Amino acid sequence: MAKYVFITGGVVSSLGKGITAGSVGTLLKKRGLKVSILKVDPYLNVDAGTMNPFQHGEVFVTDDGAETDLDLGHYERFIDETLGEQNSITTGKIYSSVIAKERRGDYLGGTVQVIPHITNDIQERMVRAGEGLDVLIVEIGGTVGDIEGQPFLEAIRQMANRVGRENVVYCHVTLVPWLEAAKELKTKPTQHSVQELRRIGILPNILVCRTSHPMDQDMKNKIALFCTVPSEAVIEVRDETTIYNVPISLHRQGLDDLILRYLGLPHDAEPDLSDWRRVVDRYVNPPESVEIALVGKYVQHKDAYLSVVEALHHAGIHHNVRIEVRSVESEDLETGDPAELLRSADGILIPGGFGARGVEGMIRAARYARERQVPILGICLGMQMMAVEYARNVCGLHGAHSKEMDPATLHPVIHLMQEQEHLDTMGGTMRLGAYPCDIEEGTQAARAYGTLHITERHRHRYEFNNAYRERLEQAGLKVSGVCRERDLVEIIELPGHPWFVGGQFHGELKSRPVRPHPLFAGFIGATLARQRAL
Ligand code: GLN
Repeated sequence: MAKYVFITGGVVSSLGKGITAGSVGTLLKKRGLKVSILKVDPYLNVDAGTMNPFQHGEVFVTDDGAETDLDLGHYERFIDETLGEQNSITTGKIYSSVIAKERRGDYLGGTVQVIPHITNDIQERMVRAGEGLDVLIVEIGGTVGDIEGQPFLEAIRQMANRVGRENVVYCHVTLVPWLEAAKELKTKPTQHSVQELRRIGILPNILVCRTSHPMDQDMKNKIALFCTVPSEAVIEVRDETTIYNVPISLHRQGLDDLILRYLGLPHDAEPDLSDWRRVVDRYVNPPESVEIALVGKYVQHKDAYLSVVEALHHAGIHHNVRIEVRSVESEDLETGDPAELLRSADGILIPGGFGARGVEGMIRAARYARERQVPILGICLGMQMMAVEYARNVCGLHGAHSKEMDPATLHPVIHLMQEQEHLDTMGGTMRLGAYPCDIEEGTQAARAYGTLHITERHRHRYEFNNAYRERLEQAGLKVSGVCRERDLVEIIELPGHPWFVGGQFHGELKSRPVRPHPLFAGFIGATLARQRAL
Protein backbone atom coordinates (compact mmCIF):
# COMPACT_ATOMS: atom_id res chain seq x y z
CA MET A 1 0.00 0.00 0.00
CA ALA A 2 1.19 3.50 -0.83
CA LYS A 3 2.04 6.08 1.76
CA TYR A 4 0.88 9.67 1.23
CA VAL A 5 2.40 13.13 1.36
CA PHE A 6 -0.35 15.78 1.31
CA ILE A 7 0.65 19.26 0.25
CA THR A 8 -1.63 22.15 1.14
CA GLY A 9 -1.13 25.89 0.78
CA GLY A 10 -1.85 28.80 3.05
CA VAL A 11 -1.98 32.60 3.20
CA VAL A 12 -1.86 33.30 -0.55
CA SER A 13 -1.87 31.32 -3.77
CA SER A 14 1.08 31.08 -6.18
CA LEU A 15 3.54 30.00 -3.49
CA GLY A 16 4.95 27.31 -5.72
CA LYS A 17 3.17 24.29 -4.24
CA GLY A 18 3.57 22.55 -7.58
CA ILE A 19 7.32 23.06 -7.54
CA THR A 20 7.43 21.87 -3.92
CA ALA A 21 5.41 18.76 -4.80
CA GLY A 22 7.67 18.08 -7.80
CA SER A 23 10.80 18.61 -5.74
CA VAL A 24 9.64 16.28 -2.98
CA GLY A 25 8.89 13.75 -5.71
CA THR A 26 12.39 14.12 -7.14
CA LEU A 27 14.00 13.62 -3.75
CA LEU A 28 11.93 10.56 -2.88
CA LYS A 29 12.56 9.04 -6.32
CA LYS A 30 16.28 9.63 -5.86
CA ARG A 31 15.99 7.63 -2.65
CA GLY A 32 14.90 4.70 -4.78
CA LEU A 33 11.19 4.93 -4.07
CA LYS A 34 8.43 4.52 -6.61
CA VAL A 35 6.56 7.82 -6.52
CA SER A 36 3.90 9.71 -8.37
CA ILE A 37 1.99 12.94 -7.87
CA LEU A 38 -1.72 13.71 -7.95
CA LYS A 39 -3.08 17.22 -8.45
CA VAL A 40 -6.40 18.21 -6.95
CA ASP A 41 -8.02 21.29 -8.45
CA PRO A 42 -11.05 22.50 -6.53
CA TYR A 43 -12.72 24.18 -9.53
CA LEU A 44 -15.90 22.99 -11.24
CA ASN A 45 -14.40 22.49 -14.69
CA VAL A 46 -14.21 18.75 -15.30
CA ASP A 47 -10.74 19.24 -16.76
CA ALA A 48 -8.56 22.12 -17.90
CA GLY A 49 -9.37 21.52 -21.58
CA THR A 50 -11.92 24.29 -21.78
CA MET A 51 -9.89 26.85 -19.86
CA ASN A 52 -8.53 29.96 -21.52
CA PRO A 53 -4.74 30.28 -21.33
CA PHE A 54 -5.18 33.98 -20.54
CA GLN A 55 -6.83 33.02 -17.25
CA HIS A 56 -5.26 29.78 -16.34
CA GLY A 57 -1.99 29.47 -18.20
CA GLU A 58 -1.11 26.52 -20.35
CA VAL A 59 -3.13 23.33 -20.59
CA PHE A 60 -0.83 20.36 -20.09
CA VAL A 61 -1.59 17.19 -22.07
CA THR A 62 -0.59 13.70 -20.99
CA ASP A 63 0.15 10.64 -23.16
CA ASP A 64 -3.33 9.27 -22.51
CA GLY A 65 -4.86 12.51 -23.77
CA ALA A 66 -5.94 14.12 -20.48
CA GLU A 67 -6.06 17.92 -20.60
CA THR A 68 -4.75 18.95 -17.22
CA ASP A 69 -3.45 21.71 -15.01
CA LEU A 70 0.05 22.94 -15.82
CA ASP A 71 1.33 21.58 -12.52
CA LEU A 72 1.34 18.13 -14.10
CA GLY A 73 4.02 19.52 -16.39
CA HIS A 74 6.12 20.46 -13.36
CA TYR A 75 5.61 17.00 -11.93
CA GLU A 76 6.69 15.23 -15.12
CA ARG A 77 9.74 17.47 -15.46
CA PHE A 78 10.73 16.93 -11.85
CA ILE A 79 10.04 13.24 -11.31
CA ASP A 80 10.52 12.16 -14.93
CA GLU A 81 7.54 9.80 -14.84
CA THR A 82 4.71 9.69 -17.35
CA LEU A 83 1.48 10.82 -15.72
CA GLY A 84 -2.08 10.50 -16.96
CA GLU A 85 -5.78 11.04 -16.43
CA GLN A 86 -5.72 9.55 -12.95
CA ASN A 87 -3.12 12.09 -11.78
CA SER A 88 -5.52 14.97 -12.01
CA ILE A 89 -8.84 15.41 -10.22
CA THR A 90 -11.16 18.37 -10.07
CA THR A 91 -14.37 19.14 -8.23
CA GLY A 92 -16.12 18.91 -11.60
CA LYS A 93 -14.76 15.41 -12.23
CA ILE A 94 -15.78 14.17 -8.78
CA TYR A 95 -19.27 15.65 -8.87
CA SER A 96 -20.00 14.44 -12.37
CA SER A 97 -19.06 10.88 -11.45
CA VAL A 98 -21.04 10.95 -8.19
CA ILE A 99 -24.07 12.45 -9.92
CA ALA A 100 -23.82 9.87 -12.73
CA LYS A 101 -23.80 7.10 -10.10
CA GLU A 102 -26.78 8.69 -8.37
CA ARG A 103 -28.71 8.76 -11.67
CA ARG A 104 -27.90 5.09 -12.23
CA GLY A 105 -29.37 4.32 -8.85
CA ASP A 106 -26.08 3.09 -7.41
CA TYR A 107 -26.83 4.69 -4.04
CA LEU A 108 -29.99 2.59 -3.64
CA GLY A 109 -32.26 5.45 -2.71
CA GLY A 110 -29.94 6.91 -0.08
CA THR A 111 -29.42 10.63 0.35
CA VAL A 112 -26.29 11.59 -1.58
CA GLN A 113 -24.14 14.08 0.31
CA VAL A 114 -20.79 15.84 0.22
CA ILE A 115 -19.79 13.78 3.24
CA PRO A 116 -19.50 10.83 2.77
CA HIS A 117 -20.19 10.44 -0.96
CA ILE A 118 -18.03 13.17 -2.42
CA THR A 119 -15.28 12.70 0.16
CA ASN A 120 -15.30 8.93 -0.37
CA ASP A 121 -15.05 9.31 -4.12
CA ILE A 122 -12.04 11.60 -3.60
CA GLN A 123 -10.37 9.10 -1.28
CA GLU A 124 -11.00 6.18 -3.61
CA ARG A 125 -9.30 8.07 -6.41
CA MET A 126 -6.33 8.78 -4.15
CA VAL A 127 -6.11 5.10 -3.25
CA ARG A 128 -6.34 4.08 -6.93
CA ALA A 129 -3.69 6.59 -7.95
CA GLY A 130 -1.44 5.20 -5.21
CA GLU A 131 -1.68 1.56 -6.37
CA GLY A 132 1.74 0.04 -7.03
CA LEU A 133 3.59 3.03 -5.56
CA ASP A 134 5.66 3.53 -2.44
CA VAL A 135 4.59 7.14 -2.03
CA LEU A 136 1.86 9.22 -3.65
CA ILE A 137 2.24 12.96 -3.28
CA VAL A 138 -1.08 14.81 -3.39
CA GLU A 139 -1.16 18.53 -3.99
CA ILE A 140 -4.36 20.33 -3.03
CA GLY A 141 -4.83 23.38 -5.25
CA GLY A 142 -6.00 26.69 -3.83
CA THR A 143 -5.51 27.99 -0.31
CA VAL A 144 -6.67 26.61 3.03
CA GLY A 145 -9.91 28.37 3.95
CA ASP A 146 -11.31 28.44 0.40
CA ILE A 147 -14.90 27.20 0.42
CA GLU A 148 -14.42 24.97 -2.61
CA GLY A 149 -11.37 23.25 -1.14
CA GLN A 150 -13.16 21.99 1.97
CA PRO A 151 -14.33 18.58 0.72
CA PHE A 152 -10.76 17.82 -0.36
CA LEU A 153 -9.27 18.84 2.96
CA GLU A 154 -11.88 16.73 4.73
CA ALA A 155 -10.96 13.83 2.44
CA ILE A 156 -7.24 14.09 3.22
CA ARG A 157 -8.03 14.36 6.92
CA GLN A 158 -10.00 11.11 6.66
CA MET A 159 -7.20 9.47 4.66
CA ALA A 160 -5.16 9.29 7.89
CA ASN A 161 -7.87 7.03 9.30
CA ARG A 162 -8.20 5.01 6.14
CA VAL A 163 -4.51 4.21 5.63
CA GLY A 164 -3.15 4.81 9.14
CA ARG A 165 -1.73 7.98 10.67
CA GLU A 166 1.82 6.62 10.33
CA ASN A 167 1.39 6.44 6.55
CA VAL A 168 0.58 10.07 5.89
CA VAL A 169 2.49 13.32 6.14
CA TYR A 170 0.88 16.73 5.93
CA CYS A 171 3.11 19.39 4.48
CA HIS A 172 1.82 22.96 4.48
CA VAL A 173 3.32 25.56 2.15
CA THR A 174 2.94 29.02 3.58
CA LEU A 175 4.16 32.59 3.26
CA VAL A 176 6.40 34.39 5.73
CA PRO A 177 6.22 37.94 4.43
CA TRP A 178 8.86 40.62 4.86
CA LEU A 179 7.53 43.93 6.12
CA GLU A 180 9.68 46.64 4.65
CA ALA A 181 8.57 49.31 7.15
CA ALA A 182 9.42 47.12 10.15
CA LYS A 183 12.38 45.45 8.38
CA GLU A 184 11.30 42.07 9.63
CA LEU A 185 9.70 38.80 8.65
CA LYS A 186 6.22 38.16 10.02
CA THR A 187 4.99 34.79 11.22
CA LYS A 188 1.38 35.71 12.04
CA PRO A 189 -0.14 34.80 8.64
CA THR A 190 1.49 31.36 8.94
CA GLN A 191 0.13 30.92 12.44
CA HIS A 192 -3.37 31.79 11.27
CA SER A 193 -3.20 29.51 8.32
CA VAL A 194 -2.04 26.59 10.48
CA GLN A 195 -4.87 27.37 12.91
CA GLU A 196 -7.27 27.14 9.99
CA LEU A 197 -5.89 23.70 9.14
CA ARG A 198 -6.12 22.57 12.77
CA ARG A 199 -9.72 23.79 12.96
CA ILE A 200 -10.63 21.17 10.38
CA GLY A 201 -8.59 18.52 12.11
CA ILE A 202 -5.33 18.52 10.20
CA LEU A 203 -2.13 18.94 12.15
CA PRO A 204 0.62 19.72 9.66
CA ASN A 205 3.91 17.87 10.17
CA ILE A 206 6.05 20.12 8.01
CA LEU A 207 5.89 23.80 7.13
CA VAL A 208 7.51 24.94 3.92
CA CYS A 209 7.88 28.71 4.29
CA ARG A 210 8.19 30.89 1.22
CA THR A 211 10.10 33.99 2.10
CA SER A 212 12.14 36.72 0.45
CA HIS A 213 14.65 37.02 3.32
CA PRO A 214 16.62 34.41 5.25
CA MET A 215 14.89 33.05 8.35
CA ASP A 216 17.13 32.72 11.39
CA GLN A 217 16.87 29.94 13.96
CA ASP A 218 14.84 32.11 16.36
CA MET A 219 12.25 32.69 13.70
CA LYS A 220 12.09 28.98 12.95
CA ASN A 221 11.77 28.17 16.66
CA LYS A 222 8.95 30.67 17.00
CA ILE A 223 7.02 29.22 14.07
CA ALA A 224 7.67 25.72 15.41
CA LEU A 225 6.34 26.65 18.85
CA PHE A 226 3.17 28.32 17.63
CA CYS A 227 2.43 25.76 14.96
CA THR A 228 3.31 22.62 16.97
CA VAL A 229 6.00 21.21 14.69
CA PRO A 230 9.64 20.48 15.52
CA SER A 231 11.86 23.38 14.45
CA GLU A 232 13.71 21.13 11.98
CA ALA A 233 10.36 20.80 10.21
CA VAL A 234 10.29 24.51 9.46
CA ILE A 235 11.80 24.65 5.99
CA GLU A 236 12.70 27.83 4.21
CA VAL A 237 12.26 28.34 0.46
CA ARG A 238 13.57 31.56 -0.95
CA ASP A 239 13.19 32.71 -4.56
CA GLU A 240 15.69 30.74 -6.60
CA THR A 241 17.38 31.72 -9.85
CA THR A 242 15.96 28.49 -11.22
CA ILE A 243 13.20 26.24 -9.96
CA TYR A 244 15.53 23.30 -10.57
CA ASN A 245 17.51 24.34 -7.52
CA VAL A 246 14.54 23.75 -5.21
CA PRO A 247 15.12 19.99 -4.75
CA ILE A 248 18.76 20.68 -3.87
CA SER A 249 17.82 23.37 -1.38
CA LEU A 250 15.09 21.24 0.23
CA HIS A 251 17.49 18.33 0.55
CA ARG A 252 20.11 20.55 2.17
CA GLN A 253 17.54 21.38 4.84
CA GLY A 254 16.73 17.72 5.38
CA LEU A 255 13.17 17.72 4.04
CA ASP A 256 13.42 14.30 2.37
CA ASP A 257 14.96 12.79 5.49
CA LEU A 258 12.16 14.16 7.61
CA ILE A 259 9.42 12.83 5.32
CA LEU A 260 11.02 9.38 5.23
CA ARG A 261 11.32 9.31 9.02
CA TYR A 262 7.67 10.32 9.44
CA LEU A 263 6.63 7.60 7.04
CA GLY A 264 8.89 4.96 8.59
CA LEU A 265 10.82 4.47 5.35
CA PRO A 266 14.59 3.83 5.12
CA HIS A 267 16.49 7.10 5.09
CA ASP A 268 20.18 6.25 5.45
CA ALA A 269 21.29 6.29 1.78
CA GLU A 270 22.08 9.74 0.38
CA PRO A 271 20.23 10.58 -2.84
CA ASP A 272 22.43 11.21 -5.88
CA LEU A 273 21.54 14.71 -7.01
CA SER A 274 24.52 15.19 -9.34
CA ASP A 275 22.38 15.52 -12.48
CA TRP A 276 20.30 18.26 -10.82
CA ARG A 277 23.45 20.04 -9.70
CA ARG A 278 24.73 19.94 -13.26
CA VAL A 279 21.41 21.31 -14.57
CA VAL A 280 21.52 24.20 -12.10
CA ASP A 281 25.15 24.94 -12.78
CA ARG A 282 24.63 25.10 -16.52
CA TYR A 283 21.48 27.15 -16.09
CA VAL A 284 23.17 29.71 -13.87
CA ASN A 285 26.62 30.07 -15.44
CA PRO A 286 26.52 29.55 -19.20
CA PRO A 287 29.26 31.29 -21.22
CA GLU A 288 26.99 32.41 -24.08
CA SER A 289 23.41 33.45 -24.66
CA VAL A 290 20.91 33.49 -27.52
CA GLU A 291 17.71 35.44 -27.90
CA ILE A 292 14.58 33.57 -28.90
CA ALA A 293 11.54 35.50 -30.10
CA LEU A 294 8.43 33.72 -28.86
CA VAL A 295 5.79 34.86 -31.34
CA GLY A 296 2.54 33.97 -29.64
CA LYS A 297 -0.95 35.21 -29.01
CA TYR A 298 -1.13 34.73 -25.24
CA VAL A 299 2.19 36.36 -24.39
CA GLN A 300 0.73 38.60 -21.65
CA HIS A 301 0.06 35.64 -19.39
CA LYS A 302 3.29 34.48 -17.84
CA ASP A 303 2.30 30.81 -17.74
CA ALA A 304 0.57 30.49 -21.10
CA TYR A 305 3.69 28.99 -22.70
CA LEU A 306 5.20 27.48 -19.58
CA SER A 307 6.30 24.14 -21.03
CA VAL A 308 7.59 25.81 -24.20
CA VAL A 309 9.76 28.16 -22.17
CA GLU A 310 10.97 25.30 -19.97
CA ALA A 311 11.79 23.21 -23.04
CA LEU A 312 13.85 26.12 -24.42
CA HIS A 313 15.77 26.27 -21.15
CA HIS A 314 16.35 22.50 -21.22
CA ALA A 315 17.82 22.85 -24.69
CA GLY A 316 19.91 25.78 -23.41
CA ILE A 317 21.19 23.65 -20.54
CA HIS A 318 22.10 20.94 -23.06
CA HIS A 319 24.08 23.38 -25.24
CA ASN A 320 25.41 25.31 -22.26
CA VAL A 321 23.89 28.57 -23.43
CA ARG A 322 21.55 31.03 -21.71
CA ILE A 323 18.17 31.43 -23.39
CA GLU A 324 16.75 34.94 -23.37
CA VAL A 325 13.11 34.52 -24.26
CA ARG A 326 11.59 37.67 -25.76
CA SER A 327 7.83 37.60 -26.08
CA VAL A 328 6.45 39.11 -29.26
CA GLU A 329 2.70 39.60 -29.47
CA SER A 330 1.85 38.08 -32.84
CA GLU A 331 -0.78 40.74 -33.51
CA ASP A 332 1.95 43.39 -33.35
CA LEU A 333 3.58 41.75 -36.36
CA GLU A 334 0.43 42.39 -38.37
CA THR A 335 0.81 46.15 -38.16
CA GLY A 336 4.50 46.49 -37.35
CA ASP A 337 7.51 45.64 -39.49
CA PRO A 338 8.64 42.04 -38.84
CA ALA A 339 12.23 42.97 -39.69
CA GLU A 340 12.08 45.62 -36.98
CA LEU A 341 10.42 43.43 -34.35
CA LEU A 342 12.45 40.31 -35.02
CA ARG A 343 15.85 41.74 -35.93
CA SER A 344 17.59 40.95 -32.64
CA ALA A 345 16.29 37.36 -32.50
CA ASP A 346 18.73 34.50 -33.02
CA GLY A 347 15.79 32.16 -33.43
CA ILE A 348 12.01 32.34 -33.70
CA LEU A 349 9.54 30.02 -32.03
CA ILE A 350 5.85 30.01 -32.94
CA PRO A 351 3.89 28.08 -30.32
CA GLY A 352 0.40 26.58 -30.33
CA GLY A 353 -2.83 28.47 -29.99
CA PHE A 354 -6.49 28.57 -30.85
CA GLY A 355 -8.59 30.97 -32.91
CA ALA A 356 -7.87 33.41 -35.71
CA ARG A 357 -6.50 36.36 -33.74
CA GLY A 358 -2.83 36.98 -34.41
CA VAL A 359 -2.26 34.23 -36.97
CA GLU A 360 -1.38 36.66 -39.79
CA GLY A 361 1.46 37.88 -37.57
CA MET A 362 2.68 34.31 -37.15
CA ILE A 363 2.63 33.87 -40.92
CA ARG A 364 4.71 37.02 -41.32
CA ALA A 365 7.19 35.79 -38.72
CA ALA A 366 7.48 32.47 -40.60
CA ARG A 367 8.14 34.31 -43.85
CA TYR A 368 10.76 36.48 -42.23
CA ALA A 369 12.52 33.40 -40.81
CA ARG A 370 12.38 31.55 -44.11
CA GLU A 371 13.65 34.43 -46.22
CA ARG A 372 16.33 35.60 -43.76
CA GLN A 373 17.59 32.12 -42.93
CA VAL A 374 16.74 32.58 -39.25
CA PRO A 375 16.16 29.29 -37.38
CA ILE A 376 12.48 28.75 -36.66
CA LEU A 377 10.56 26.10 -34.75
CA GLY A 378 6.79 25.87 -35.19
CA ILE A 379 4.62 24.03 -32.74
CA CYS A 380 1.12 22.90 -33.65
CA LEU A 381 -0.55 26.16 -34.73
CA GLY A 382 2.98 27.41 -35.43
CA MET A 383 3.66 24.51 -37.79
CA GLN A 384 0.29 25.06 -39.46
CA MET A 385 1.06 28.72 -40.08
CA MET A 386 4.49 27.80 -41.50
CA ALA A 387 2.66 25.56 -43.98
CA VAL A 388 0.19 28.32 -44.86
CA GLU A 389 3.08 30.74 -45.36
CA TYR A 390 4.79 28.34 -47.72
CA ALA A 391 1.61 27.60 -49.66
CA ARG A 392 0.89 31.28 -50.10
CA ASN A 393 4.25 32.88 -50.63
CA VAL A 394 6.26 30.12 -52.31
CA CYS A 395 3.58 28.13 -54.15
CA GLY A 396 1.38 31.15 -54.86
CA LEU A 397 -1.68 29.27 -53.61
CA HIS A 398 -4.08 31.73 -52.06
CA GLY A 399 -6.91 30.37 -49.97
CA ALA A 400 -9.87 32.08 -48.42
CA HIS A 401 -8.90 34.79 -46.03
CA SER A 402 -10.98 36.52 -43.46
CA LYS A 403 -10.08 37.60 -39.96
CA GLU A 404 -13.50 36.45 -38.80
CA MET A 405 -12.74 32.89 -39.88
CA ASP A 406 -10.96 30.14 -38.09
CA PRO A 407 -7.21 29.85 -38.74
CA ALA A 408 -7.81 26.72 -40.77
CA THR A 409 -9.80 28.64 -43.28
CA LEU A 410 -6.98 31.12 -43.80
CA HIS A 411 -5.80 28.55 -46.28
CA PRO A 412 -7.13 25.10 -47.19
CA VAL A 413 -3.65 23.62 -46.69
CA ILE A 414 -4.77 23.23 -43.06
CA HIS A 415 -8.23 21.74 -42.71
CA LEU A 416 -10.70 19.74 -40.68
CA MET A 417 -10.88 16.19 -42.00
CA GLN A 418 -14.08 14.53 -43.03
CA GLU A 419 -13.93 11.90 -40.33
CA GLN A 420 -14.03 14.67 -37.75
CA GLU A 421 -17.76 14.80 -38.34
CA HIS A 422 -18.54 14.27 -34.65
CA LEU A 423 -18.40 17.97 -34.09
CA ASP A 424 -18.33 19.07 -30.51
CA THR A 425 -19.34 22.53 -29.39
CA MET A 426 -16.01 24.01 -30.40
CA GLY A 427 -16.16 22.90 -34.02
CA GLY A 428 -14.53 19.50 -34.37
CA THR A 429 -13.09 16.56 -32.49
CA MET A 430 -9.60 17.07 -31.15
CA ARG A 431 -6.61 14.84 -31.63
CA LEU A 432 -5.41 14.45 -28.06
CA GLY A 433 -2.53 12.57 -26.46
CA ALA A 434 0.28 10.42 -27.82
CA TYR A 435 0.49 9.33 -31.46
CA PRO A 436 3.31 7.50 -33.21
CA CYS A 437 5.25 9.28 -35.93
CA ASP A 438 7.64 7.83 -38.51
CA ILE A 439 10.53 10.00 -39.59
CA GLU A 440 12.21 9.92 -42.97
CA GLU A 441 15.88 9.05 -42.97
CA GLY A 442 18.40 11.76 -43.82
CA THR A 443 16.15 14.64 -42.74
CA GLN A 444 16.83 17.32 -40.15
CA ALA A 445 14.19 15.69 -37.94
CA ALA A 446 15.94 12.32 -38.23
CA ARG A 447 19.26 13.87 -37.25
CA ALA A 448 17.68 15.68 -34.31
CA TYR A 449 15.85 12.63 -32.95
CA GLY A 450 18.55 10.10 -33.75
CA THR A 451 15.75 7.58 -34.35
CA LEU A 452 13.05 7.08 -36.96
CA HIS A 453 10.16 6.09 -34.70
CA ILE A 454 8.85 8.47 -32.08
CA THR A 455 5.66 9.29 -30.25
CA GLU A 456 4.57 12.81 -29.50
CA ARG A 457 1.62 14.44 -27.79
CA HIS A 458 -1.12 16.24 -29.66
CA ARG A 459 -3.89 18.73 -28.93
CA HIS A 460 -5.48 20.18 -32.03
CA ARG A 461 -8.43 19.92 -34.39
CA TYR A 462 -6.93 20.84 -37.72
CA GLU A 463 -4.55 18.80 -39.82
CA PHE A 464 -2.24 19.34 -42.76
CA ASN A 465 -4.34 18.74 -45.89
CA ASN A 466 -2.78 15.87 -47.88
CA ALA A 467 -4.32 17.25 -51.07
CA TYR A 468 -1.62 19.94 -50.95
CA ARG A 469 1.29 17.77 -49.94
CA GLU A 470 2.63 17.15 -53.43
CA ARG A 471 2.40 20.81 -54.47
CA LEU A 472 4.30 21.95 -51.41
CA GLU A 473 6.88 19.19 -51.70
CA GLN A 474 7.47 20.01 -55.35
CA ALA A 475 8.11 23.57 -54.28
CA GLY A 476 10.82 22.41 -51.87
CA LEU A 477 9.09 21.84 -48.52
CA LYS A 478 9.81 18.41 -47.04
CA VAL A 479 7.38 16.30 -45.08
CA SER A 480 9.83 14.54 -42.79
CA GLY A 481 7.47 12.93 -40.28
CA VAL A 482 4.12 11.21 -40.75
CA CYS A 483 1.65 9.29 -38.63
CA ARG A 484 1.45 6.28 -40.92
CA GLU A 485 -1.58 4.56 -39.48
CA ARG A 486 -3.71 7.64 -40.11
CA ASP A 487 -1.79 9.12 -43.05
CA LEU A 488 -1.22 12.45 -41.32
CA VAL A 489 1.60 14.92 -41.81
CA GLU A 490 3.39 15.47 -38.48
CA ILE A 491 6.69 17.23 -39.27
CA ILE A 492 7.60 19.65 -42.06
CA GLU A 493 11.01 21.12 -42.76
CA LEU A 494 12.86 23.09 -45.39
CA PRO A 495 16.03 21.46 -46.73
CA GLY A 496 18.88 23.94 -47.14
CA HIS A 497 17.53 26.29 -44.46
CA PRO A 498 19.57 26.31 -41.21
CA TRP A 499 16.50 25.18 -39.24
CA PHE A 500 12.96 25.58 -40.51
CA VAL A 501 11.06 22.82 -38.73
CA GLY A 502 7.44 22.57 -37.69
CA GLY A 503 5.75 19.79 -35.71
CA GLN A 504 2.01 19.21 -35.52
CA PHE A 505 2.53 18.01 -31.94
CA HIS A 506 3.60 19.65 -28.69
CA GLY A 507 7.17 18.45 -28.23
CA GLU A 508 7.63 20.78 -25.26
CA LEU A 509 5.42 18.50 -23.16
CA LYS A 510 7.99 15.71 -23.21
CA SER A 511 11.09 17.80 -22.60
CA ARG A 512 13.01 17.24 -19.36
CA PRO A 513 15.80 19.26 -17.71
CA VAL A 514 18.23 16.38 -18.19
CA ARG A 515 16.76 15.23 -21.49
CA PRO A 516 15.84 18.13 -23.77
CA HIS A 517 13.34 17.54 -26.52
CA PRO A 518 15.24 16.71 -29.74
CA LEU A 519 13.57 19.41 -31.87
CA PHE A 520 14.20 22.06 -29.21
CA ALA A 521 17.81 20.91 -28.87
CA GLY A 522 18.22 20.97 -32.66
CA PHE A 523 16.63 24.41 -32.87
CA ILE A 524 18.84 25.93 -30.17
CA GLY A 525 21.88 24.25 -31.76
CA ALA A 526 21.02 26.00 -35.03
CA THR A 527 20.53 29.41 -33.36
CA LEU A 528 23.87 29.03 -31.64
CA ALA A 529 25.61 28.12 -34.90
CA ARG A 530 24.06 31.13 -36.60
CA GLN A 531 25.04 33.49 -33.81
CA ARG A 532 28.62 32.24 -33.80
CA ALA A 533 28.83 32.71 -37.56
CA LEU A 534 27.65 36.33 -37.44
N1 GLN B 1 -5.90 25.75 -33.42
C1 GLN B 1 -5.13 24.74 -34.07
C2 GLN B 1 -5.89 23.44 -34.20
O1 GLN B 1 -6.85 23.25 -33.52
C3 GLN B 1 -3.82 24.50 -33.34
C4 GLN B 1 -3.99 23.98 -31.96
C5 GLN B 1 -2.74 24.08 -31.14
O2 GLN B 1 -1.82 24.81 -31.48
N2 GLN B 1 -2.69 23.37 -30.04
O3 GLN B 1 -5.52 22.59 -34.95
